[in-house]
Amino acid sequence: MSRESLPKDRPLRDATRLIHEGEARSGFGEMSEAMYLTSGFAYDTMDAAEARFDGRDPGFIYSRFSNPTVATFERRMIALEGAEAGRATASGMAAVTAAMLCQLNAGDHVVAAKALFGSCRYVVEDLCPRFGISSTLVDGADLDQWRAAIRPETKVLFIETPTNPTLQVYDIEAIAEIAHANGARLVVDNVFATPVLQKPLKFGADVVVYSATKHIDGQGRVLGGVVLGSEKFVMDHLHNFLRQTGPAMSPFNAWVLAKGLETLTLRVEKAQSSAAAVADFFATHPKVKQLTYCGRADHPQAALVKKQMAGGGTLVAFTLDGAKPEAFRFGDALGVVKISNNLGDAKSILTHPATTTHQRLGPDARAELGITDAMLRLSIGLEHVDDLLEDVEHALKAV
Ligand SMILES: *Cc1c(COP(=O)(O)O)cnc(C)c1O
Repeated sequence: MSRESLPKDRPLRDATRLIHEGEARSGFGEMSEAMYLTSGFAYDTMDAAEARFDGRDPGFIYSRFSNPTVATFERRMIALEGAEAGRATASGMAAVTAAMLCQLNAGDHVVAAKALFGSCRYVVEDLCPRFGISSTLVDGADLDQWRAAIRPETKVLFIETPTNPTLQVYDIEAIAEIAHANGARLVVDNVFATPVLQKPLKFGADVVVYSATKHIDGQGRVLGGVVLGSEKFVMDHLHNFLRQTGPAMSPFNAWVLAKGLETLTLRVEKAQSSAAAVADFFATHPKVKQLTYCGRADHPQAALVKKQMAGGGTLVAFTLDGAKPEAFRFGDALGVVKISNNLGDAKSILTHPATTTHQRLGPDARAELGITDAMLRLSIGLEHVDDLLEDVEHALKAV
């Protein structure tokens, strides 16, 4: 097997590294990455097996620990993120759960923003306390609330920015400073921004997690996740936790995701330019009461977007003039855009958070997050932008 030999004397851009990083050619010299769909590995001799297990030989042992195809995916993600190390997991939630639990003990305390992906909020609000890890939820945009929530035993701060589904933006650098002043780590769920548009480690985050199911796959095929951080964090906390508890990524999924990364920058740029066009169309439409897009000058935190994001992203949030019936009529009148709860797909997707992804929260918690019955989230895909504009224009006529 031969690993990639990219030029080391000049920095390569993301788009280039995502195509070549982590290549591991077998003796056949294949161009497309081979898929090592195997659970285990054989050793030539008993001595060789002993050497693998005692660490003298760093080769593969078992695919719950590591696998050549999974390693290719991990190396691409590490390069893209600018991280020292990273580990792939079976899903985004496996990544979030591992990133939190691997570093927490009974008696520790977590502070997280209220506006979290539903299952992330479950991990912080319900799962952690069952094991003696207390948690506090704050308004992520209010730095005083973060400071006030910190206790001597606070070990982890957790945010998602931009938030789902309201596309609020939180100050990664400021929240990382609050964490570090108290000896805690900041974990950032970077799904909405994508690693192309936002690099939380540069702003002081300690750990970045992804659902690779979203833009990284980008074609709605497989589940996956990844946790990225320093070599020390991975070796001291994550490595052994993942090995022993087993939320391993399938080599098949790793292959799909590694190939997905080859087109990630292209896809995110294309979807982003269409999202900007759709947002501009909504912004002046009389039936749209409120429009939020991270790439527009009228985003409430436009200056912060400019500081920490390289673009507005692929998601658009908007509120119709009306209530649930108007939102449903809009969705039902769409033809090209699909109704689903996923995001970051080649296919554009409409979600009504109040009745789907955020139903479990109940009306009070939704109101607190600004999720009304007339609010919708659009994940823009790769269709022709004019077809998307015509689709939403047609649907607005039905409202
Ligand atoms: C989808 C998603 C997750 C969970 O990822 P899965 O791959 O579905 O387990 C976590 N956080 C955010 C922001 C997401 O969008």
